[in-house]
Amino acid sequence: MSTRKIARVVRGMPTSDGAGVKLTRVIGSPQLMDLDPFLMLDEFGTDRPEDYIAGFPDHPHRGFETVTYMIAGRMRHRDSAGHEGLLENGGVQWMTAGRGVIHSEIPQQEAGVMEGFQLWLNLPARDKMCAPWYRDFGAGDLPRFGTTSGAEVTVIAGVSHGVQGAVTRAATEPLYLDLRLADGASFAQALPAEHNAFVYVYRGALRIGDQIVPAQRMAILANAADADGVLVEAQGETRALLIAGRPLNEPIAQYGPFVMNSEQEIYQAISDHRNGRLAALAEPTPAMPSGFP
Ligand code: FE
Repeated sequence: MSTRKIARVVRGMPTSDGAGVKLTRVIGSPQLMDLDPFLMLDEFGTDRPEDYIAGFPDHPHRGFETVTYMIAGRMRHRDSAGHEGLLENGGVQWMTAGRGVIHSEIPQQEAGVMEGFQLWLNLPARDKMCAPWYRDFGAGDLPRFGTTSGAEVTVIAGVSHGVQGAVTRAATEPLYLDLRLADGASFAQALPAEHNAFVYVYRGALRIGDQIVPAQRMAILANAADADGVLVEAQGETRALLIAGRPLNEPIAQYGPFVMNSEQEIYQAISDHRNGRLAALAEPTPAMPSGFP
């Protein structure tokens, strides 16, 4: 395998969102507005309840998908269609907002560590107004495998070493892996050359090529026609996300939690939200996005 090199290392920006939840924004801040097809990556991780306790009360989304991965702690979500679920340690909620969801995401604990990630994955223009969809995966529902080189891999989306992940999407072909590597362990992953890809190290450190990526850093991997994957090697006990996807190359018009292709569609989303039509359920259900299970 010929490995990709690092194009750029990005450090997340501390910010707060929802009702004052402190988090680190890795994608979706001025230094990295997006990495097509990814619109946002937030890391939350704290043992101070005052940093997370108020959570994210009712708020809308339209035009993309949110993928929430809990490393530690519990989060209850409820949406406008009456769905409700509890996301716990090691679990994933995959939510397709499509034409509109109003939901809340509220921590269900008053003490202890709360740690996890939320990734926003864009939808292609043709799927932005699809029917909302979501699914909760407990830690035990997520496919997992180990390698002889000391890697333990959870496959949230895509395919790794022949193991099919929990979620598949035809348009963006997302790959979402959580890697646990012993000191000195290495891991190789095939990646289509045109897909955008990054590694986010959240414990320990990784060597990629001749560069070391420390914890709380994102390494954007360079796209090169002659590279067919990436090889990482752990420096100490390491945990990292490896995420990749096919870029949509479509215009992005974003206003907070609405991500469409044009300003006109954003005005429509704001107006639908004001008029209580964003998450209306009465309309006939349009086709599900390609690749739905
Ligand atoms: Fe949300």
